[in-house]
Amino acid sequence: MSRGAVGVCAATWLASERTTRGASESRATNWIWTDGGKNLTADKQRHRFEQIKQAGVDAVLLSTYNAEVLSHAKEQGLQTHAWIMTLCRGDKQLLQNHADWYDVSRLGVSAATKPPYVGYYHFLCPSHEQVRDHLVRIVSGLADTPNLDGIHLDYIRYPDVILPVGLWKKYNLVQNTELPQFDFCYCEVCRNAFKKQTGEDPLKLPDPPANAAWRQYRYDSITRLVNLLAETVHAKRKMLTAAVFPTPSLAKKLVRQDWAKWDLDAVLPMTYNRFYNQPPAWIERAVREGVAALPSNRPLYAGLYLPDLRRAEFNHAVGFAMEGGAKGVSLFGGLRQIQPG
Ligand SMILES: [Zn+2]
Repeated sequence: MSRGAVGVCAATWLASERTTRGASESRATNWIWTDGGKNLTADKQRHRFEQIKQAGVDAVLLSTYNAEVLSHAKEQGLQTHAWIMTLCRGDKQLLQNHADWYDVSRLGVSAATKPPYVGYYHFLCPSHEQVRDHLVRIVSGLADTPNLDGIHLDYIRYPDVILPVGLWKKYNLVQNTELPQFDFCYCEVCRNAFKKQTGEDPLKLPDPPANAAWRQYRYDSITRLVNLLAETVHAKRKMLTAAVFPTPSLAKKLVRQDWAKWDLDAVLPMTYNRFYNQPPAWIERAVREGVAALPSNRPLYAGLYLPDLRRAEFNHAVGFAMEGGAKGVSLFGGLRQIQPG
């Protein structure tokens, strides 16, 4: 069986599982992260979106696109969302001219010059007014794009102060505590703002990770940015969604996202069970925690990491997500990557 055919099998199942649970059952909405295929011929672009639609997907999160791509996706009745790397930005121009906008670790090391974990982890500090203005300009421009229904925020967080446990081996790390080289942000702006708020310098706290006010400061800094972006996008009658860490408690602990407080139109937690050494059944528990924390009218779509799911597991994973109260699933990694068996 070709990999393509496997994709279609999985997709057919997705198409059949299209109702959500609850008092008023409605059709599920499913999402997929993909590039727009902008280098393909018009016919191939059309065919690709047609296949995506037939697979039971309703919304595309596009990493790349142009006007033609958006119009072909809309022709197939798909919702279109621009995927952006929000705070993780290695733009040359920013690194060269605004190195001071980037996060600084508890060791005083800037993510502009020495990013943690991987070379591209240049994270901007959400406490800087200039950073917020810069991002407002970007999403405001995107919100003016014809045939684009919304903007999808990814990397809307600090660098992982603790990596998902399933990744520790890969990076040869044990992170039972917040290690200083991965703990952000101790830039001048953050230190001064926290001093103004509490009278204390976060760098001089006896045990910074143990200080609840200092953790809260950083949750709030991201929340303020998200809600500002939401205001901007909503003023133009477009949607704002985000890819977030899998549960409210893990998101706070690992990357300081307090996403239940964000003014989003929908939230797409990355319930990637293998990243946490968990079986697919964990997805249901994770989704349940998220749904319980969110306002009742805020839909949650469970993110599934396809390269880690065998075909049978994929079917179960979708079932677990729906059982937990998700309004659909969001597929990352391409339908064709589902492994047979
Ligand atoms: Zn900062």
